[in-house]
Amino acid sequence: MAFDCDVLISGGGPTGITLAVLLARRGVKVIVAEKEATIYPMPRAAHLDHEAMRILQEAGVADAVMQTSRRAARYDFLNARGRLLLRFDGADQIGPGGWPLANMIHQPSVEAALRQSLAACQTATLRCQWELLDVATNGAGVTARLATPDGERSLRARYLVAADGARSPVRSAAGIGFDDLDFEEPWLVLDMLVDDPSQLPTSNLQICNPARPTTCVLMGQGRHRWELMILPGETAEQVSEDAFIDRLLEPWNVKGAVRLERKAVYTFRARIAQRWRQGPVLLAGDAAHQTPPFAGQGMCAGLRDAANLAWKLASVIKGQAPDALLDSYQVEREPHVRATIAMAIMMGRMVCTISPWSAFVRDLKFRLGRALGKLPDGPPSYPPISAGLILAGSPAAGCYFPQPRDANGAGLDAVLGDGPWLITRSDLAAPPLASFADPLGAWLDAHDAPAVLVRPDRHVFATGNPDALRQAWAAVLATKGR
Ligand SMILES: Cc1cc2nc3c(=O)[nH]c(=O)nc-3n(C[C@H](O)[C@H](O)[C@H](O)COP(=O)(O)OP(=O)(O)OC[C@H]3O[C@@H](n4cnc5c(N)ncnc54)[C@H](O)[C@@H]3O)c2cc1C
Repeated sequence: MAFDCDVLISGGGPTGITLAVLLARRGVKVIVAEKEATIYPMPRAAHLDHEAMRILQEAGVADAVMQTSRRAARYDFLNARGRLLLRFDGADQIGPGGWPLANMIHQPSVEAALRQSLAACQTATLRCQWELLDVATNGAGVTARLATPDGERSLRARYLVAADGARSPVRSAAGIGFDDLDFEEPWLVLDMLVDDPSQLPTSNLQICNPARPTTCVLMGQGRHRWELMILPGETAEQVSEDAFIDRLLEPWNVKGAVRLERKAVYTFRARIAQRWRQGPVLLAGDAAHQTPPFAGQGMCAGLRDAANLAWKLASVIKGQAPDALLDSYQVEREPHVRATIAMAIMMGRMVCTISPWSAFVRDLKFRLGRALGKLPDGPPSYPPISAGLILAGSPAAGCYFPQPRDANGAGLDAVLGDGPWLITRSDLAAPPLASFADPLGAWLDAHDAPAVLVRPDRHVFATGNPDALRQAWAAVLATKGR
């Protein structure tokens, strides 16, 4: 039976739409089925890191996102008396991905830009109000049943990517369980429109006050976010009342400076699906993992999933690699997701301490750690890919490859395009790489390498002799998993 598309994506959130754009750029035929009519309007992501911005660059929306995003240099954890416990500094600097380390955003605006980019893709279509009801897998793909405004219909696709969010119906129907990382805290989230920015903090703040743990962070232009922990005995309805919210914000002295735009109550959780692949069905984004938001990494992780899956799915669909290539997806992504969630849990436990005695001990520990110079001051860092489609034993294999910019501000990715890159020392003498010769030469020097092969998701496959790299890459693509 003929396929209606190569890849059906259930869920038109940021993970699904980004994946669709990255696949369409590679000529893959994609349909995104989204059950809602419009973009989810409630408060969610406020931060994207430099790697996420680079993925959005590939998806064609980084410039649009940058136009309304803001930078915050610092992320400070303060105790109830305003004393500094932990600081992540320098987040306004340009990161290895070629974009600022921390970009404060408004998620619906980013999603709108992504949907605009998708609309310009020849081989991808977004179908709103199409709800995936169930899916049957058979030897050569999937058959999905969907509810649409014109009644039920079925679709055949070679692969289904479930980017259908934390409650993922596809994950539930497949009977895939979670590794529960034991974090569950209810919080009230308030997004405010800003009338007078002069009265607002310019850094991102966690107020580790046991009487009311509170987050206060920048968002995209014209907005600011407060998140307040819901205490034992309080209900979601009670804390959501306008009068209660006014009282919660009193200590911030921002009356007249901000207006409430949207509010929501969430239970912050940390969970990882046990399997991210079942035959032709793959899980991505919140469907595969959920993190408390303290490290600002949930949506970033979904974008990384999309970047990891896009080139692999495209290679398999074009017959350039066996289906087993897709088995490397979870192997490569899960350790990184675990590291980001571990960071978020560490931050979350630090903030969500409501016993005064535990808070006292925590404050002592962190203030001592700071005084002894034992706490990191720079931005959080996460591990490289350590297993999967990398040449084991090759120096720098699995590391994130940077995106330098030339004197005119053009990024390397714009010059070299989407494919895998083989960069040799001799390439640096002539265009187009001559204008990046200094940073790329320094990178090769640092790894004592004559050449590097960079995967399409900008992780290093291997370093070494150019011919050997070419052969090893072709061999890995052709044989992986056989
Ligand atoms: C308070 C809060 C703060 C956050 N802060 C940050 C942050 O600063 N940085 C960060 O990176 N992340 C942050 N996140 C996390 C981020 O918002 C999510 O990780 C991200 O939205 C996940 O994207 P997704 O596309 O995987 O899933 P979703 O955005 O949930 O999209 C899933 C989509 O699937 C659709 N769907 C579901 N079922 C079906 C079906 N049967 N058929 C068709 N469609 C279906 C849904 O309607 C939805 O549109 C935050 C989250 C919260 C709650």
